[in-house]
Amino acid sequence: MSARAESTTNELTKDKIARRARASYRPFVRVGFALVIAFLVTRFQFDYLESLLYDARMRLRPAPAPSGHVTTITVDARTIDRLRRAPDAKDHAKLLGALAARGPKAVMYLIHPSEIVGSYEDLKAFAEAAERTPGFVVAVDDVPMKGAEESFRLAVPFEKLKVAAAPSTSDRNLFARDLVTRRMFTSYQGQTFLHVELAALFNPKVRDENRIHGVFDFLDARQVYIDFRPAGRYPATSFAEAADGDFEGGVGGKIVIVGRDLRTTVKDYIRTPYSREVDAMTAVEMHANMLDTLILNDGYYRLPDGLNVLFTTLMSVLTVYVVLALKPAQGLLLLGSAVLSFSALCYLAFWWGTVWVVMAHPVLAAFICYYFFIPYRLIVENRKSWEYYQKNRLLTQVEELKTNFLSMMSHDLKTPIARIQGMTDIVLKDPAPLSERQREALHTLEKSSQELLEFVSSILNLGRIESKELRLHLHSKDPNQLIKEVAGKLEYMAKPKGIDLKLELEPMFSIKMDVDLMRQVIANLIENAIKYSPAGTRVLVSAEEAAGRVSIQVADQGAGVPEDEIGHIFSKFYRSKGAKSSDIKGSGLGLYLAKYFVELHKGSISVDSSPGQGSTFTVELPTDLQEQ
Ligand code: ADP
Repeated sequence: MSARAESTTNELTKDKIARRARASYRPFVRVGFALVIAFLVTRFQFDYLESLLYDARMRLRPAPAPSGHVTTITVDARTIDRLRRAPDAKDHAKLLGALAARGPKAVMYLIHPSEIVGSYEDLKAFAEAAERTPGFVVAVDDVPMKGAEESFRLAVPFEKLKVAAAPSTSDRNLFARDLVTRRMFTSYQGQTFLHVELAALFNPKVRDENRIHGVFDFLDARQVYIDFRPAGRYPATSFAEAADGDFEGGVGGKIVIVGRDLRTTVKDYIRTPYSREVDAMTAVEMHANMLDTLILNDGYYRLPDGLNVLFTTLMSVLTVYVVLALKPAQGLLLLGSAVLSFSALCYLAFWWGTVWVVMAHPVLAAFICYYFFIPYRLIVENRKSWEYYQKNRLLTQVEELKTNFLSMMSHDLKTPIARIQGMTDIVLKDPAPLSERQREALHTLEKSSQELLEFVSSILNLGRIESKELRLHLHSKDPNQLIKEVAGKLEYMAKPKGIDLKLELEPMFSIKMDVDLMRQVIANLIENAIKYSPAGTRVLVSAEEAAGRVSIQVADQGAGVPEDEIGHIFSKFYRSKGAKSSDIKGSGLGLYLAKYFVELHKGSISVDSSPGQGSTFTVELPTDLQEQ
């Protein structure tokens, strides 16, 4: 090998090694990228998006049924209509009388006594009625400071009434900042709120805050996500009817919440995951939902952040794998199904397990990774296809060069061969006597130059085929006559081997054909039959016409074509292993050219061969071929 070639080979090997090394650490780089993206994504809070997904899950899930332990009474438009004014102390006392008679478990008064109008006597009567009502408690939104619980005591005549903190809270500064109520307090600085106390009447378990499902700490407070029902799911009685003792669904043994639904102040309403309207739900219903969340103990449990990071990382890695390793359509399908399955699992966990899995980070990570890596993939693929294009161009050029070279060379070789043949002929025909050895040498020379000429002609034909120069020159010719001519010329090959070359030709009319090309086809088939058959066998050439086609068959009793090679023998330069190892000469072009020529005639060529028994090659030509 020359020094230059050696150094090029070395460079190629080095390039291969470097490429292989790059390919081996590529997966780690990809996973690394995915991890960085997952890390960055989880550094940010996508609270607004998460709140939309949270609310969507709540809306889409079948709303849970109320516990049945809570009922509501509201001062509403009907009450004002009936009384022609707002209820005063006397009306409230009347309501409490009606309630007390039915033995409620507790009465949670959201209307502060100081807001009730009436004479001192009437107010006192109301206070006394409240004292007689089982479980009466005034619920206030404020939270007393630790040690300042005394400040909660009401002024005379309500000084004996129980006041308790039942604060509500909305996402004003935290989470979605959309003023929607999603959480409730259970305690603050160790001070348990009214909801826990009342819910414990039905579910004593919740008295121990650690056993409240989904409870979490925030600063000094403990909170839980409310399991909301849409508005209008609780039995609601209008104050006017309730004062007359007419309660919707009964009040005995229940917690009764008394409040307002007058649309005079936004304080009486909240926004919920079901609706962001300012009056989406009354405060009365909100408290009912809070109580039921504790009674049924089905507050939402938010999965720890560690798991969120894990899901986000898995989604990033999957996306990067999908984008870089799979086909685009396949990848999109897989990624789409992964995001959909993840969303479905989150939904099921929310509905069945009251577990809140954060969805925003994993889904965003999938999108970010996807849009980040798609251009990268496009660049890589563009580079690859550019390389292929260059290689292909080079190959086409080399192929063209090769064809040109072969046809040029073959053309130039034909003249000296013809000259050798001519000279051999002259010497053989010369009357001057030749010795036996000289005559033998001249015959060998004649045979070899003939073989060389045939080889060169095949190469020339190949060149013509590849440069698409070949056109048919059709003439009428009787196929039988052509076969006889060719067979006659090949007798010289058959005779020395003792092969019996037999013709069985059914008389037929002339057909249109390119006589030169068809002569080569028939000659090649008969030559092959003689070449690949042992001495003393028979080669039968037959021709017949049927159904508008002329069929020419060349059958021999040779070794046949092995089954695994039959599919290849019509390929360019193909020679069977047997032919290559024996000293039978050939170029591997004969059958390739024969097939090409026959197909140019809109005909077909096929072989039927059983190893050890012989082969039969069949050429079929149309009888009505027209000039193109
Ligand atoms: P070659 O120059 O090798 O004869 P061909 O294209 O004419 O090339 O034939 C391709 C191969 O098909 C041959 O190498 C030979 O193995 C096989 N073949 C062709 N004709 C016969 C036959 N009559 N009997 C057995 N094998 C044949």
